[in-house]
Amino acid sequence: MDKTGATKPTFLWRGILILLPLFLLAGVGLYSLRRDRLTAELDARDRCQYVEQIYSANIDGWLVQRMAALSLTQKVGMSIVIDGKGNLFSLDGSKTRARIPGTPVPQVPPELPPAQAAALHEARDAEYAKGDISDAIAAWQKFIALSPPAPYLSRAKYDLGLLLSRRNETAAADKMLAEVQADRKATTEDGLPLWLLAEFQRTPKNSPNRQTLYRHAVDNPSFLTPAILEGGPWQAVWDKEQATRDFYLHVSDELHAHPAEARAFWTKWDQQEWLVLVRPIDGVAPAASMFLLPVEKPLVLQALQDVLSSNSPPQPGYAQLGVEIAGEPVLPVNQNWPLLAKNDADLDISSAGLQTLQAVTLCEYLSRPELLYAQQRARTLWFAVLILGSAVVALAGFVSAYRGFHQQLRLGEMKSNFVSSVSHELRAPIASMRLLAESLQRGKVPDESKRTEYYGFLVQESRRLSSLIENILDFSRIEQGRKKYQFEPTDLDFLVEQTVKLMQPSATERGVELKLQKAESGGNGAVYCDGLAVQQALINLIDNAVKHSPRGGVVMIGLEREAGRFKLWVEDQGSGIPAEEHERIFERFYRRGSELRRETQGIGIGLSIVKHTVEAHGGRVVLRSAPGEGSRFTMDLLDRPAMKD
Ligand code: ADP
Repeated sequence: MDKTGATKPTFLWRGILILLPLFLLAGVGLYSLRRDRLTAELDARDRCQYVEQIYSANIDGWLVQRMAALSLTQKVGMSIVIDGKGNLFSLDGSKTRARIPGTPVPQVPPELPPAQAAALHEARDAEYAKGDISDAIAAWQKFIALSPPAPYLSRAKYDLGLLLSRRNETAAADKMLAEVQADRKATTEDGLPLWLLAEFQRTPKNSPNRQTLYRHAVDNPSFLTPAILEGGPWQAVWDKEQATRDFYLHVSDELHAHPAEARAFWTKWDQQEWLVLVRPIDGVAPAASMFLLPVEKPLVLQALQDVLSSNSPPQPGYAQLGVEIAGEPVLPVNQNWPLLAKNDADLDISSAGLQTLQAVTLCEYLSRPELLYAQQRARTLWFAVLILGSAVVALAGFVSAYRGFHQQLRLGEMKSNFVSSVSHELRAPIASMRLLAESLQRGKVPDESKRTEYYGFLVQESRRLSSLIENILDFSRIEQGRKKYQFEPTDLDFLVEQTVKLMQPSATERGVELKLQKAESGGNGAVYCDGLAVQQALINLIDNAVKHSPRGGVVMIGLEREAGRFKLWVEDQGSGIPAEEHERIFERFYRRGSELRRETQGIGIGLSIVKHTVEAHGGRVVLRSAPGEGSRFTMDLLDRPAMKD
């Protein structure tokens, strides 16, 4: 790498380039997810707003009508008009007004002149004395003859009529009662209309006039009315009018507090909540007259649901509608839900769009956020998986780039060491060869035996050089992928013996003894291998063993054969190799110890060639070594390797 002394290359920028896209991706993704969520929320608001506007228009147009229609079934009259005098009118379905009469008021009769008063006493005494009925009739006839004032006269005629009918003088009785019936003003002391009582007496059960009687009884309410009606068809009308009167009494204070104001309010009557819509009527009746529509709460709710469900778009599944009418929740909701849309709606209380009352509030709440955000959540999940996947990949890339970077750095360093090692290794033998050759050339070695020794040295050194160069060439072929192995039958015993012999001189030079140990059992036939390559590998191992052996040490070389495989091992008594370096020493250019001190000879490629050769033979190298205990390298090779060139 950079050996110029300039800044050392760092991994920082590469790391940033690898990881930056990941962070950018994550950032952009998170941002768009956030936008996604906001968009979903905005859509929901728009949709709810739209739905609410339609609801609001429906309520405006139909709710009062629907409530009015439903209120026909309720206890209180459907709609009530109160005139300026406090008279109640109920409007039936066809909008005609029927007066709801007030209850009778007791009448104080005028004072009678003494003669008439005496005659009245006499008549009453005769009637209640249980004596002869004729006496009573005569007494009443006498009183009538005195022409008493109007109320007394009709009462007397009524009593007389009843007595005559008891005496079976039907025609006379009926005439008398008919006269009473004709006087519409006469009342009893309690204020009961006498004419009605007369009519009751004159209209037997099977008479066709009975319906008229019932109507008269209902229109002139008193404690007698239920007795006259006897639970018949008019009873329901009566009950409703009674209830209406009672209801009016209940709300009248509230009504008259603001007589000229249209409004809606709730009231509790007959154990029920009632919505009351009030509107002053102009030009119809005196100023204080007003229109009243009371609707009981269940009917309000039903009308609301009818109106909401007709011609409306469906309510979104994630939202729930809350409706308030006159400040009271009719469709209640959980107030903790987030509000999506809010609209006001009018109540058309004039039923012709002329007068409206802003009394309804519609609110859409987000009741099921999980539905609204379902899609977005799925996207988040996918995105998280994507980011996680990218993170894992980027991290793997980062780690591998980081390791590659450091490997490159180390390799670069080792290569430059290699060059200096090679130069170093070449310099010594070349220098000594030059010295020897020069001495011989100049004839400076007269002694014949000395000369022979010098020639021996020259051969020795040039062999070492050849072996070194051979190793380098081999290595370069391996590196370039050009190394070819020639598998052929090889005499293994011969090969090993020859190699040991070859290495003998350099071992002797270092004071190391080489010993060959062959296992007896294995047989001695030829094996199928690349003899030259195996020999070179063995040379490398023996060379290492010799180099690392102490002077006087022994290097054992062994050959073992088994069926289909053979082992060649070299064992020394040298310094040994710590376990953590057992793998690394097989890496190319790797040399133990400090490069600067060059503690051992060598150029760091011998073992990598051994490994390559053994693996090309389908085998493996086994190292057994520990510091201070020597080393044993075993080449475990297949006899018939599968890979044949
Ligand atoms: P070199 O040519 O430098 O010996 P090798 O690849 O043959 O390169 O060996 C790599 C390293 O392994 C050597 O630098 C040496 O430290 C260590 N080594 C190899 N053989 C032995 C051994 N028999 N005893 C101790 N160390 C050894």
